[in-house]
Amino acid sequence: MQASTRIRTLTGTGDDGWGLFHRARAMKDAGAPVLELTIGEHDIRTDPRILAAMDRAAQGGHTGYAIVPGIAPLRDAVARRLTERTGVATDRDNILITPGGQAALFAAHHASCDNGDQALYIDPYYATYPGTIRSVGAVPVAVQAAPEDGFQPHAPALNAVAATAKSLLINSPNNPTGVIYSRETLEGIAGVVRKNDLWLISDEVYDTQVWQGSHLSPRALPGMAERTLVIGSLSKSHAMTGSRLGWIAGPKEVIAHLITLATHTTYGVPGYIQDAALYALAMGPDFEAGIAAPFIRRRDMVMALLARQQVVRAVPAQGAMYAMLDIRATGLSGMAFAERLLEAENIAVMPGESFGEAAVGHIRVALTLPDDQFAEAATRLIRFAGSLAARPVAQ
Ligand code: PLP
Repeated sequence: MQASTRIRTLTGTGDDGWGLFHRARAMKDAGAPVLELTIGEHDIRTDPRILAAMDRAAQGGHTGYAIVPGIAPLRDAVARRLTERTGVATDRDNILITPGGQAALFAAHHASCDNGDQALYIDPYYATYPGTIRSVGAVPVAVQAAPEDGFQPHAPALNAVAATAKSLLINSPNNPTGVIYSRETLEGIAGVVRKNDLWLISDEVYDTQVWQGSHLSPRALPGMAERTLVIGSLSKSHAMTGSRLGWIAGPKEVIAHLITLATHTTYGVPGYIQDAALYALAMGPDFEAGIAAPFIRRRDMVMALLARQQVVRAVPAQGAMYAMLDIRATGLSGMAFAERLLEAENIAVMPGESFGEAAVGHIRVALTLPDDQFAEAATRLIRFAGSLAARPVAQ
């Protein structure tokens, strides 16, 4: 028996660049001293106080089926958080608790696209985006944001493809570029979305990882609340990646439909995880700033190292937990550079090409090693790039 075409073609065709990640993991498992700057996972674990809250809830009996949309106090807490941050009145019925932001991305595309509809997303993109769009039977259409524009998407490029589309997925603060979309960019996007009657799916899972400027949710822009679905998560903000706790916020009617979808797919999120999430949200902004602090520190470390040389250039890294580095002066593609770096220096980074076509000649560095190891890896990486530029090699 053959599996469905949809499931077999979920990730499209061609090398997605993750081969390098798996090779680095295999080398590490075999004992090689590989420094991994690949995935967006904190170098700290979930705070013991949050784990204690989870334990209390589980021991206290919150282990049965939890109510599908999420427990009322947690939906209320998320709604309050969004009201405070966006100024848009939000209540419990605007919120569905999901098993992580990824499940919310799937749900949002389910809610906005029918079979065969075109769903826009910005390239460079988070690895799962095209597959998530295909998983609901929609057709992914990439719109490039160029390095020359600081990876900010431009309204004319979006307008050129928006007339036949149903939705647009954006992500700010951005993975993989670390860029935060400016107010001007977001207003341009909102204009395209309103003009072409699209759903806007705004992935804001890095909204507390803002190093420069402030986070602006497009849901707060005029006329946008009724057509925006916001994706949120505690994975990055609270170092709770493994707990799988996220949400989708949107108009009440859509959330009601999505509760039905959740009833037929995930059946909700475990109650003890939700209790822990409620506890985590109550820890407040200082706790969240503490989780974000190491990434700011390491971004500054990279910038200081880059200031002393001419070969590697940084895209202005303003948020999330990554730095996108332009290594075009070495004459290599991001893929070739990443391969050589792994071979010569035992340092693993993600090639820009694994995030689409717009980031060719770049590499993404995750700021996720402890400071001393990170400083060593960044120093060696930059020195290696310098040696390549001084002595060009055939690809
Ligand atoms: N969106 C972006 C941009 C991400 O980088 C990630 C995870 O790395 C996710 C969504 C998914 O996060 P979650 O752990 O909440 O499913």
